[in-house]
Amino acid sequence: MKAIDDETLQREQAVAALLRLDRLGLNRGSTGNLSLRCTRQRQHGMLITPTGMGANDLRAVDLVWVGPEGEVQGDWLPSSEWHFHQAIYATRGDVQAVVHTHSIHATALACLERELPAFHYMVAVAGGDTVPLAPYHAFGSVELSQAVAAAMSNRDACLMSHHGLVAAGSSLAAAMKVAIEVEALCEIYLKLLAVAEPAILSGEQMAEVLAKFRHYGQTRRA
Ligand SMILES: [Zn+2]
Repeated sequence: MKAIDDETLQREQAVAALLRLDRLGLNRGSTGNLSLRCTRQRQHGMLITPTGMGANDLRAVDLVWVGPEGEVQGDWLPSSEWHFHQAIYATRGDVQAVVHTHSIHATALACLERELPAFHYMVAVAGGDTVPLAPYHAFGSVELSQAVAAAMSNRDACLMSHHGLVAAGSSLAAAMKVAIEVEALCEIYLKLLAVAEPAILSGEQMAEVLAKFRHYGQTRRA
């Protein structure tokens, strides 16, 4: 029974997260999608939002399970972008959730074919000194999933050229935090580019931030 309870909780978390992306303006209509790693009967798979369904229509029961060979269990077809979600889970054993948006500022930067450089220390939220840019391939293609998985082999986010943003994390809350932060950073960076190219923090400066982030967290006072 525990496994069923865990999956029910995951489904409810996914619905709440998609609604939150809508409320925050990161997602509009049915363009965004998200997934959580989910094992069923010892088959390692994921729960993912169905294709073509907006946050306001999504119910917990609508999430679709996709298995390791692409087998589908559920009432709907999975998001057409499930391939890159699966590729990220295959590449990154630590990732438990993936969030994908066509949020305006991350997408605008991705359409300029620019990565997000270390113009601000919070770029380290994605685990390195850039948020890299994955090259363009058609949505839903194997080539795109390979490009995204490669870009995220050592990062928790990437921009997808002429497409959008992907973020991942060790929980859905962690993946959401990265997606929301990277979108905000892209907004700031685009505003800066309208004035001038901002200075970029050095590798040494970002290494210091990354080291601090590894030890930083919610810490109760003794
Ligand atoms: Zn997309």
